[in-house]
Amino acid sequence: MKTIHDFPRFPLCAGPTPLQLLPNLSRKYGRQIYIKRDDMTGVGLGGNKVRKLEFLLTDARARGADVVFTTGGAQSNHAMLTAACCAKLGMKAVLFLKERGVTEEKGNLLLDRLLGAEVRFVDTDDYGEVYAQMDRLAAQLRAEGHVPYAIPLGGSTALGVLGYVAGMEEAYGQGTAMGISFDHTVCVCGSGGTTAGVVLGTHLYSPGTRVLAVAVDDQPFDQIVADLVQGALALLERTGEAVPPPEIRSHVGEGYGIPGPEVTAAVEELARLEGIFLDPVYTGKAFAEVLSLLREGKFPGERILFLHSGGAGGLFAVDLP
Ligand SMILES: *Cc1c(COP(=O)(O)O)cnc(C)c1O
Repeated sequence: MKTIHDFPRFPLCAGPTPLQLLPNLSRKYGRQIYIKRDDMTGVGLGGNKVRKLEFLLTDARARGADVVFTTGGAQSNHAMLTAACCAKLGMKAVLFLKERGVTEEKGNLLLDRLLGAEVRFVDTDDYGEVYAQMDRLAAQLRAEGHVPYAIPLGGSTALGVLGYVAGMEEAYGQGTAMGISFDHTVCVCGSGGTTAGVVLGTHLYSPGTRVLAVAVDDQPFDQIVADLVQGALALLERTGEAVPPPEIRSHVGEGYGIPGPEVTAAVEELARLEGIFLDPVYTGKAFAEVLSLLREGKFPGERILFLHSGGAGGLFAVDLP
């Protein structure tokens, strides 16, 4: 068997991110609510993708890559953080972004430009079409002597999942140092890799903790997450090990990337009680779900860890109703 420490990893995260008690929120709801500040991973505006990119871009470098492709929506946090990490590593980033949603040069698209990434808009809803375009450009670049490396949507591959196995080792280690363990860890599920890493990291480092994932898109996440967990287990030479699945709750609202008024309320609540900003597309929806569960009386007497996965750029592009 292997551990995550057997995998080479160029350090992109600026050291451990803070794990903090949210005192005012905890008092208000009568639970102990903690937050893991992965909005402070130290590259770009911070966010969860940096942890995946530590493994993925180390692999890219080992293969001699000089150009990195990835994809996402027009305001993709993942694409922006890929561009930021590539800048740091001296690689060129080409972002294949769906020409959907907010395509004006603000929010993450502005940052993509500042980071020197090449943005190629793709007028399709089908990622199969996007990957076909990537393949065509990859062939062309290879013929010119370049070494391209493609990262799929959200960096959600088996190798990317190891980023959150590492993230949870860090978080639960911080909990142990503070003398606490968690009853529930809550994360956002967008493409599934973070949830898979949280699930596997919890199984390995805090098996008594239950995982609740809040899905912000309509996808068959039970299967997607289970497959990613199995892929990561195979990398760790633990194939077939039984890992408890997460509870997945859906909070999509009107659609991926479209926040409802409850998201505005959740973003305001955390800002006004604790001075922390959530985002309109991912963490705001997940936190709105957590607040509604708290109001319904879920998690009685529990200690809860909320994973803040970043997304600040979205606040400057996506209108909160
Ligand atoms: C990408 C993203 C997520 C979802 O992570 P996945 O690994 O794609 O499921 C959550 N929060 C933010 C801010 C993100 O950018």
